[in-house]
Amino acid sequence: MVSSRPSNSRFSGRYSRPPFRRSSNRFSRRKSKGLDISRLINNEPQEEEKQEVFTPKHLFSDFNVSSRIKENVMGKGYSEPTPIQDAAIPEILSGHNVLGLANTGTGKTAAFAIPLLEKVLQNRSKKVVVICPTRELALQINEEFKSFGKGTGLFSVLCIGGANIRTQIHFLTKPHQFIIGTPGRIKDLLFRKTLRLDNASYLVLDEVDRMLDMGFIDDIKYIVGKMPKEKQTLFFSATINSEVKGLINEFLGEHKVISVKARETAKSVSQDVIKVQSIVEKLDKLTELLNTAEFSKVLIFVKTKSGVDRLERDLIKRGVKVSTIHGDKPQSIRQRSIYNFKNNVSKVLIATDIAARGLDIPEVSHVINYDMPATYEDYVHRIGRTGRANKKGKALTFVEGFAGHRYSGRY
Ligand code: ADP
Ligand code: MG
Repeated sequence: MVSSRPSNSRFSGRYSRPPFRRSSNRFSRRKSKGLDISRLINNEPQEEEKQEVFTPKHLFSDFNVSSRIKENVMGKGYSEPTPIQDAAIPEILSGHNVLGLANTGTGKTAAFAIPLLEKVLQNRSKKVVVICPTRELALQINEEFKSFGKGTGLFSVLCIGGANIRTQIHFLTKPHQFIIGTPGRIKDLLFRKTLRLDNASYLVLDEVDRMLDMGFIDDIKYIVGKMPKEKQTLFFSATINSEVKGLINEFLGEHKVISVKARETAKSVSQDVIKVQSIVEKLDKLTELLNTAEFSKVLIFVKTKSGVDRLERDLIKRGVKVSTIHGDKPQSIRQRSIYNFKNNVSKVLIATDIAARGLDIPEVSHVINYDMPATYEDYVHRIGRTGRANKKGKALTFVEGFAGHRYSGRY
């Protein structure tokens, strides 16, 4: 787990130990529209192996960024830019607003973090605001900025819910260049006038389609309203739907679209469905899979918070050790669960869609949709937790052929 103690080391993420706090229901609000099952099956990745070899136009050494950042990039073991990095970094460096679209796990974070760090290194009075949908993703993005910005003397303040707001307010009074956070807390800090964004020069919305949908749009409008009109805006996601296209154009104004997506889902993820006739059969099948050696690190998505708790109880009864995460858990438990899963303390994580976006957990062997996702976009993000950074992964979706449907029903 990332340290939750504020640190004064150079380029430190500043945040505090999170106390118990209930979160909103943003992730369980949407209704399932029913998905076309044929879109959940795709075994082609294994077959077309090595057909598409990407040759970047640039090496990291070609980018017009300072040697300190390049050293940090190399230090992370990146040998060459991914397609989105190759295309987006020069455009961002030259000042364009950008909509960046690339499959899950293909390095979108570095695509905006590297050029923004460079911009701020050139002028330390500039301020960057990065907003994303979940606290865990904000923590992760903050860690990424810290690792790319090591040794630069730049500072970020992590502004997320479930963490001590007084500590965040304290750090906001100190010099900082990056605000990284979730909309609710950023809005709260703006309300209290302990955060001002009228001098911010750069805005990033990661997972932009999520940030502009029903659950967040009012907060985003409020936050963007507090920022100057003249700024560079960068939007990133693996998915975009027609409903948010208009809003994206409205917010971005003149911009470059950089899409390096050749397909809807990451090509590194093979996909299949498991048809079951009863809830008992579904649980039996899941238990059987989890006891198979190949299922070495499994992320299971369930539709509701109570469904997560129930499946946890059922799997524990069957002798399977699990971690869980959902929006009603205290932040400390949420982070502990992610930490345990990341570090192989538990090989199974049961989650709501709170864990569907952005999280970069290495070596997830399987994503299992125990409950169907609400939308195809949610599906794309859920299964994108595996097969990241050129690794292979597998996604399995339970399809229920019995009345009553979802797991959340009593039995
Ligand atoms: P996305 O936001 O597109 O889902 P991330 O930014 O979370 O993807 O990156 C996914 C993983 O790929 C991370 O573990 C990251 O460290 C790694 N990664 C990013 N860029 C490169 C690169 N150029 N070379 C190797 N690994 C990379
Ligand atoms: Mg991402």
